[in-house]
Amino acid sequence: MRILLSNDDGYFAPGIEHLARALSEIADITVVAPERDRSGASNSLTLDRPLSLKRAASGFYYVNGTPTDCVHLAVTGMLDELPDMVVSGINHGANMGDDTIYSGTVAAATEGYLLGVPSIAVSLCSKTGENFATAARVVRELVERLQRQAVREPVLLNVNVPDVPYEQLRGTVATRLGKRHKAEPGAGCRRGHRFLCGAQPAGIGHTVTDRPDAQRPVVASARLVDRMNAAVSGIGMTSQRTRTRMIERLRDKGIRDEMVLAAIAAVPRHIFVEEALASRAYEDTALPLGFSQTISQPFIVARMIEALRAGRELGKTLEIGAGCGYQAAVLAQLTPQVFAVERIEPLAEKARQNLKTMGQHNVRVIYADGHLGLPGEAPFDTIIVAAAGSRVPPLLLQQLAPGGRMILPLGSGEQYLSLIERRAEGYIESRMDGVRFVPLLPGVE
Ligand code: SAH
Repeated sequence: MRILLSNDDGYFAPGIEHLARALSEIADITVVAPERDRSGASNSLTLDRPLSLKRAASGFYYVNGTPTDCVHLAVTGMLDELPDMVVSGINHGANMGDDTIYSGTVAAATEGYLLGVPSIAVSLCSKTGENFATAARVVRELVERLQRQAVREPVLLNVNVPDVPYEQLRGTVATRLGKRHKAEPGAGCRRGHRFLCGAQPAGIGHTVTDRPDAQRPVVASARLVDRMNAAVSGIGMTSQRTRTRMIERLRDKGIRDEMVLAAIAAVPRHIFVEEALASRAYEDTALPLGFSQTISQPFIVARMIEALRAGRELGKTLEIGAGCGYQAAVLAQLTPQVFAVERIEPLAEKARQNLKTMGQHNVRVIYADGHLGLPGEAPFDTIIVAAAGSRVPPLLLQQLAPGGRMILPLGSGEQYLSLIERRAEGYIESRMDGVRFVPLLPGVE
């Protein structure tokens, strides 16, 4: 494994030395950092003068530019191969809330992420900087966990570690890096604690606690929060191996979209099935939900979402037939806004509970007849129907945005998947695999 290290405090800073020492035990490291302190440099590239890359006696390289320059030069000009990871830090002082906009430490990691490399920014939350070794160890463990993950798409993590001895850490808080949905509470914003809930600028920025007494590293992830949760705190790790096997099976069956596989890997399916069936949660089969309904088979979920994505973002998404919320949870890993409609009230309630248990706050479950769509929220970029009707509900067609895609099973006896695209010239339908879904029924129960 090859790791590129950078920072914004300069190549001679104690933080980067600690990081280099800790990570050189598990990876080949290359350090490319600014020649002097460039804190607060943000994501800036130097374009008005030539940059020089020099090597110090320590073996570390240094550049007369910004942290972004360092990562950019290293990845695009200096290294023979793309690194497996970029790690930036250890910054002397926290980088939370608005700090992430200005921080050179976060910028170096962001540059790695933009260049397609999984990247981590790490900061020690103090001005005295006594426990760099704690932060270095947290990052090393995180790198090792990420290495073990089945999915490989780039992630951007911003990790803030309290300045305490490692033994005093008490778990991890994972939050989302990026624009927060208004329905989502700020992570850890509890009464009685001082916290930073900065205005949410578009793009980067996250809401986390800023509690000097907190003894938990705060990890903000650009996407797939739950997977990161599992990655950093060990939650759900018991089932991680079985989940990984399920992903391998989906890959064998022909699912190619790594983002879809990552999303499925991120969802703890055992939460969504009856306790008695939990041991079978990671088999690639449909399982009973109660009320004569079934939780969808992961392969079909993957197949449908892969067809819907095909080279674009899902955007605002409507699911008809939420059941227990499993597929909605998978969709919610891939897009910020999911509306899921269910006609059986106890199931809708169950879906809400399951999503809450999972900590998934960007899905709204609505108890209604899906034939009507959700006119108040339309248009949708993506519509996915999890129950089979004999024809396409006309209101759903109307609620599909221009350029949007809808997928649904059609047929009363033999069923097949139908993919519909709304283009300027009209609706284009393509017929896909044969399938078996529960029926799309009228009205509500
Ligand atoms: N998406 C679910 C699959 C549930 S099975 C999952 O991830 O497991 C299909 C669901 O569609 C059932 O819960 C059923 O009650 C619901 N359904 C059927 N007809 C519907 C309609 N007209 N409107 C909303 N939901 C409907």
